[in-house]
Amino acid sequence: MNRKRTTRATPDVTSQAAPAPATVDDDKPASAPAAQTTRGKRKRLDLKSYVEGVLAGDRAVLGRAITLVESQARRDHELAQQLLIELLPHTGKAYRVGITGVPGVGKSTLIEALGCNLISRGHRVAVLAIDPTSRATGGSILGDKTRMTRLSRDLQAFVRPSPAAGSLGGVARKTRETMLVCEAAGFDVVIVETVGVGQSETTVAEMVDFFLLLMLANAGDELQGIKRGIVELADLIAINKAERENAVAVRQARREYMSALRLMHGSHPDWRPSVIAVSGLHNEGLDALWAQVVEHRALLERTGYLASRRQEQTRRWLWTMVEERLMRALREHPAVAALAPEIERTVLAGELTPALGAEALLQAFGLRSS
Ligand code: GDP
Repeated sequence: MNRKRTTRATPDVTSQAAPAPATVDDDKPASAPAAQTTRGKRKRLDLKSYVEGVLAGDRAVLGRAITLVESQARRDHELAQQLLIELLPHTGKAYRVGITGVPGVGKSTLIEALGCNLISRGHRVAVLAIDPTSRATGGSILGDKTRMTRLSRDLQAFVRPSPAAGSLGGVARKTRETMLVCEAAGFDVVIVETVGVGQSETTVAEMVDFFLLLMLANAGDELQGIKRGIVELADLIAINKAERENAVAVRQARREYMSALRLMHGSHPDWRPSVIAVSGLHNEGLDALWAQVVEHRALLERTGYLASRRQEQTRRWLWTMVEERLMRALREHPAVAALAPEIERTVLAGELTPALGAEALLQAFGLRSS
């Protein structure tokens, strides 16, 4: 197989052979006491080194840039935002594909096979994960490093597990920003993977252009934990593990999903989501799967929908961040925190209406009554 290699990536992720870029001392005490160093005592680079390294596709710098973006520390946040401003003009060209499905449906097997197929055609593939389970359970369904070993080793791929800390909103924001960093580093396919069991697929659908739902034949919707709302988001349903011995069940499942999709149009009014059968393990049906992504992209571009959809996503992203920040400020406000248990109690006891209770909390926060 003739693998097309670009020259942008350095040969070794951990290579330190290049002259060390300028660093900013990370170990000095930060002005905000809550600030923490990113990972261990590692030095931060300066802005220019991050920008140049990412744009040159330097994997070591890319990894550090993503760590910076994921950092919870306030001064990292400022540098990360400056970096993003510099990188933004170099983003936006990639195929952004969301993939969801319950644990065990075969996401990582399929992404690995698909990723390798795409790399063999000259693409560069970044895989990012949003794992809403890692905080709740202390263990992670998606985040372990043993997944996608072949892809992880390929220099034309970049596999990044879910950031470990933060709310779903916070993790999603960081994944969104990581996606932009990867695009600036020359990855022209970004796959955002999530477990299809919670809220996270809506979040993923809001940061990608194409949303793929992986399903199994032989498993009822309930078993698969798939809700109708998720089917509505899908631009394509792929029935995985569709090997020959499952043909009857696959045909049946395909009919059912087709009828569930009949009235839906995914992310574009003229797009008719279809149902295909694939086997990630045996690399079957993945070309047809990718052909759908390409066809969908052509439709979005032809109709000017790609730009408007991404703008709409960005607008929502802006307001989601405002809302999250406001809610945090509200919950952390001392007067609100002091009052909240009593207000909740009286509202639940029927002594106060929810509207009056909300009014009281907002007044404690400093809002005038409307
Ligand atoms: P994930 O949890 O959704 O990422 O699922 P994995 O990719 O880890 O796969 C879960 C299990 O299903 C593993 O044992 C895989 O080998 C198996 N598997 C994945 N894809 C296929 C497939 O296409 N056919 C079959 N028969 N097994 C598969």
